[in-house]
Order: sequence, then structure tokens, then C-alpha cells
Amino acid sequence: MNTVKTGWIGLGKMGVPMSQQLIKAGYPLSVYNRSKDKEEVFKAQGIGIAASPALLLNAADVVFIMVSDDNAINDIFHGDEGLLAAKVSGKIIINMSTVSPAISKEIAAACKAQGNYYLDAPVSGSVKQAEDAMLVIMVGGEAGAFEQAKTILEKMGKLVMLVGGTGAGNAAKLAINTLLGIVAQGLAETITLAQQNGIEAEALIMLISNSALGSPFIKIKGDAIVNNNYQAAFALKHIAKDLRLAKDLGLATPLGYTAYQTYQAAEAAFGEEDIIAVIKQVSKG
Ligand code: NAP
Repeated sequence: MNTVKTGWIGLGKMGVPMSQQLIKAGYPLSVYNRSKDKEEVFKAQGIGIAASPALLLNAADVVFIMVSDDNAINDIFHGDEGLLAAKVSGKIIINMSTVSPAISKEIAAACKAQGNYYLDAPVSGSVKQAEDAMLVIMVGGEAGAFEQAKTILEKMGKLVMLVGGTGAGNAAKLAINTLLGIVAQGLAETITLAQQNGIEAEALIMLISNSALGSPFIKIKGDAIVNNNYQAAFALKHIAKDLRLAKDLGLATPLGYTAYQTYQAAEAAFGEEDIIAVIKQVSKG
């Protein structure tokens, strides 16, 4: 049994499997989610439920956050019973959501004034990698807090790397997700061109997967297209959000900017579906 008390905020698609790794590793855990129904599974496991983020921080030494975006982070920290309302110090707060470096810098300063440490620690990988504890975790913040948190982060990922000061994890993540957006759009366009010329998607995926271009991503998303399965593992609305954040960081290069435009255009119709539903956008012509 580990003695460090952990807390988890955000029980969405990623937050559930990631927090389960802490339970598996024997860490005492309490959780909080805005929508109470998502806490039920944890209650049934005998996990403590906190009534607010502030109460969760009171009860834990290290608190992890996995929520949607900058707005959610604002609510979690600045709400009436948010993390910054807690009268506690010496805690480590680790924000694993994909958010802007700017909000990380603002919140890190507020946490420091409160007497706590903030790390940004976004992840590369999706639900499957979260379930298998195979995420890639990129961290920004103070080296001392990172060293204290590293052992726990390693329970969720295969690589945990400090990349720089506060916001550096977020900047690295937005750069990686720019590549993700480009690759997903590239796969969608490739399959569209092949289909327009009488080649079945299934045959094309087999050819690509056996070539030097093959990758787990191409296989998983190619199979999703073949099976007409667009249920979100990574919702298209999240990549649309990430490319907006990347644009704020200066993304203006040809492919990146085009991907930014494509996902913004696709979001209204396909935002709740998986990222690879971008094929429905690009195949419109
Ligand atoms: P999700 O399933 O949509 O879950 C979002 C979570 O954020 C829910 O717990 C939701 O609470 C909470 N939330 C949203 N707005 C909130 C607010 N204003 N106040 C409090 N809580 C709020 O998202 P996800 O797929 O787990 O992704 C979470 C983060 O990880 C995102 O930043 C995403 O970009 C990133 N990410 C996702 C993947 C992936 O493959 N899914 C991979 C890497 C990174 P409710 O239950 O109350 O709505």
C-alpha cells in the first residue's frame, strides 16, 4: 500500500482509465467529477467521493486533473469551491488535460501564492494506451515537484519526461497534436482518393500497414473507417480545440494551418464523433 494520498478530478474517457491505474498501484484515491453520475462506478469500488475540488485538495497530497479545456480548468481552480479556495499548502497539483501554456502559467503562479506546486503534464495516447498504462507524459514545471510526482506518473505511462518550465508540457503536446491532426486528415484524404478510384478502404489499409508508412494509428483509425465506427475515442471537438490553441502559439505553416481550418469546419457536424470522422468532411470535396 502506498502512503501518498491521491485525488482525481475529471472522470471522462481518459480520466477513468488513468485514475484506475492509481487504484491498481495501491494509492489511496478520492475523486471528484462535475456530473455526479460518473462518480457512481468509483463509489461502488469503495473509493472516496469529494463534494468539491477544494475538499479533494484537503484530503489528498497529490491531485490530478483530466478535464476538457481551459474553461474547465478555470472552473476547477477559480470556482467558489475550486482548488484555489482551499486553505492548504505543500500539495502537488498535476494538470494532465490538454490546455494552453498561458493558462498553466497563470494557474501555476496562483498555486505558488497558495503554497502549492503546479505541474502541466498532458499525455499522448488515447483510451487504449490509458487502459494499458502506456501513455507518453510530457511535463512542465519545477524539477523538485516533478521528481516527487514522477513515480506516480509512471503508473500511467511508459515515458514520463520533464520538458521544461511551466507550460512546456502543454507546448510539446500542442506540437504533437498538430502532427496528429495532419496525419488523421492525410489518412482520410488518402482513403478518399483510393475509394474514388475503385480501391476498397480495407485493401488500402492492409497495403499501408505493410509498408514503411504503417503505424498503430493508421491501423486503428483505418479499421475504424472500414467498420464505419466513428464512436469517439478522441473526440473531433478536442483536436479542433487543440489546433486553435496551436494557432494561438503561432501555427501558420501550410499543412498545420490547413488542418486547423479543416477541423474547425468539421466541428459543428462531427465534433462528438472520433477524430477520424474528418473523412466525412474531406470526402465532401
Ligand atoms: P471527456 O471524455 O469529454 O471528459 C471531459 C471531462 O472534463 C469530464 O469529466 C467533464 O465533466 C469535465 N469537464 C468539462 N467541462 C468542465 C467544467 N467546466 N467544469 C468541470 N469539469 C468539466 O474528455 P477526454 O477525452 O477524457 O479528454 C480529457 C482531456 O484529455 C482533454 O483535454 C483532451 O484534449 C485530452 N486528451 C484526450 C485524449 C483522448 O483520446 N480522449 C487523448 C489525449 C489527451 P462532466 O462529466 O461533468 O461533463
